[in-house]
Amino acid sequence: MNHFDYRDGALHAEDVALKDIAEAVGTPFYCYSTATIERHYRVFTAAFADAPATVCYSLKANSNLAVVRTLAELGAGADVVSGGELRRALAAGVPAERIVFSGVGKTRDEMALGLDAAILQFNVESVAELDALSELAAAAGARAPVALRINPDVDARTHGKITTGTRATKFGIPIAQAPAAAARAATLPAVDLVGLAVHIGSQLTDLAPFEAAFGRMADLARTLRADGHAIERLDLGGGLGIRYTDETPPDPEAYAAVAKRAVSGLGCRLLLEPGRVLVGNAGVLVTRVLDVKEAGGHTFVVVDAAMNDLLRPALYDAQHAIEPVTEPLPEAARAPVDVVGPVCESADSFTKNRPLPPVAAGDLLAIRTAGAYGAVMASSYNARPLTPEVLVKGSAYAVVRRRPSFDETVAAEHMPDWLVETPGRAPGRATVGRRGAA
Ligand SMILES: *Cc1c(COP(=O)(O)O)cnc(C)c1O
Repeated sequence: MNHFDYRDGALHAEDVALKDIAEAVGTPFYCYSTATIERHYRVFTAAFADAPATVCYSLKANSNLAVVRTLAELGAGADVVSGGELRRALAAGVPAERIVFSGVGKTRDEMALGLDAAILQFNVESVAELDALSELAAAAGARAPVALRINPDVDARTHGKITTGTRATKFGIPIAQAPAAAARAATLPAVDLVGLAVHIGSQLTDLAPFEAAFGRMADLARTLRADGHAIERLDLGGGLGIRYTDETPPDPEAYAAVAKRAVSGLGCRLLLEPGRVLVGNAGVLVTRVLDVKEAGGHTFVVVDAAMNDLLRPALYDAQHAIEPVTEPLPEAARAPVDVVGPVCESADSFTKNRPLPPVAAGDLLAIRTAGAYGAVMASSYNARPLTPEVLVKGSAYAVVRRRPSFDETVAAEHMPDWLVETPGRAPGRATVGRRGAA
């Protein structure tokens, strides 16, 4: 369910025509729908309403301050994986007592930020991290609430690059080492072991891996309690998949039922870290067709968005639905095309052999389901400016990140002394060739 629909032949985000935004902002741009974000948050939290649960939005899916604030105003906490995300969550108004700090490698500065802010919990991924956190907390006269992030060795059956819960990945403490890690935590002066955390991957479209992982966490919680540890919280991570083209992911209700069943009887507070499912289909990337050309038996639709704006197709072989912003006539014939960006990489392709209605240079296309892992993964490769982001609410819209000017994109760069012409000295010249010629 989302709020991007054709009205009078024009694709709208809520009550705003995307072509109007394109005119005002230029292309490409990301456009997010407030009503869609709100709806997904409400559906997700409602599924856990009968359990003691805290929903911590995973900022890495989309950390635009306005998006995070939209969720914070609904009561969402935050799951962050870097000091930068922690600061974004705080800046957007997420209360520290609802922030979980995950991540496979935290610097001491990042840990100190979390301690300073007095966040809800650190999800710790190794014994060395436990030691460092305790040392920092002790020095600051603070205590660090920790959950052990466990690697349950469960295959999420998703794309290899977003699988995080099998033994061979870098994530978490191997489940067999958990009792020893918990014992270590109990000896440390300034950490409080409060729970366990797990996150097995992203874009899961099947409940079975969740069920297996949550079951292992529940068993481990019982084992650790028997060892005398107070396991009060279970952080079940994120990962629930969404529909891009023809996937059939479980709905939040079914996902929540699996989670609640797996942990029933433990009396733990649940933490959930949804990212993609809250914001994925709340966003589109709007792009303009630059050229349509035939080559080697393919029709290439060259657009002004590229892999630097939306990396998912190049990185994860992702297929996003692509729709003309002007509604095609129902009888328009669809012919297979490759939609490609202008970046000098063959990987800069959004789709191959996709049947699309006829498009011409100047037309606008909407690349759907681009609200998660879109703008956050953008780069300025090929010296392309970062894509602006627009947030719609009803009939209003606001540019929530503007396109940087050229001067801004080079502002952090600096010429070293030896490349700067100094007065009274001739610019350096190459002498080798001259000598040879003399
Ligand atoms: C990425 C991530 C999430 C969010 O995953 P989604 O698939 O976007 O729901 C949650 N928790 C952790 C620890 C993560 O790394």
